[in-house]
Amino acid sequence: MGRPLVAVLSGAGVSTDSGIPDYRGPNGLWRREPGAEKLVTYDAYMADPEVRRASWRMRRDLGLLNARPNAAHRAVADLERAGVPVRVLTQNVDGLHQLAGVSPRKVLELHGTARAVRCTRCAARSTMAEALERLAAGEPDPDCRSCGGVLQPATVMFGQRLDPEVLGQAMAVAKGCEVFVAVGTSLQVQPAASLAGIAAEHGARLFVVNAEPTPYDALAVEVVREPIGTALPALLERIAREG
Ligand code: ZN
Repeated sequence: MGRPLVAVLSGAGVSTDSGIPDYRGPNGLWRREPGAEKLVTYDAYMADPEVRRASWRMRRDLGLLNARPNAAHRAVADLERAGVPVRVLTQNVDGLHQLAGVSPRKVLELHGTARAVRCTRCAARSTMAEALERLAAGEPDPDCRSCGGVLQPATVMFGQRLDPEVLGQAMAVAKGCEVFVAVGTSLQVQPAASLAGIAAEHGARLFVVNAEPTPYDALAVEVVREPIGTALPALLERIAREG
């Protein structure tokens, strides 16, 4: 008999120890600063070259490409290394789970990745590093090398839908897993948040690791309020041991 499948849904709280603030959450950076929200809102971004220029400068200044995985990311990678079947469903766009060593094919990035850019016209992809190099070299709004179209980060901006294929795969994981760990997420941004409810409805044991209460705490077999950097490694070790 195979070992039980463990799904980890990670939110902004998992990356704060890596120096990455919460951008997207109800109290996130984008929501608190009206000027910032425009920079990541699809219609404004497409309509106004000045918004795009400011958005690229913001990407440069956030320095997300320099962020390093922390103890929470490493704990998830260790779980996979220990032979436990793991799927990571993440609301984060920083790619730190993969950098910590989780197999990229085991990670579903619900909101895309800020490590890549894609053309809004022809969908060609390239790296954020290259786009930021072009910015540094004097192109304030780098365009698509293939077709000249507008480039955007390969993230889901406000006003854009989640990739239905990625969401469908995430739903399947939520329905099929035996253990579902929601960590560092307020479980308030839909449809990602509803994955916790779907998992519980389909019989998974739900664990919530988050500083603040979430709407799904009542469905959880255990709610942990301790700091993620120590609480998540301890919890995942226990899950690996007990199955
Ligand atoms: Zn293009």
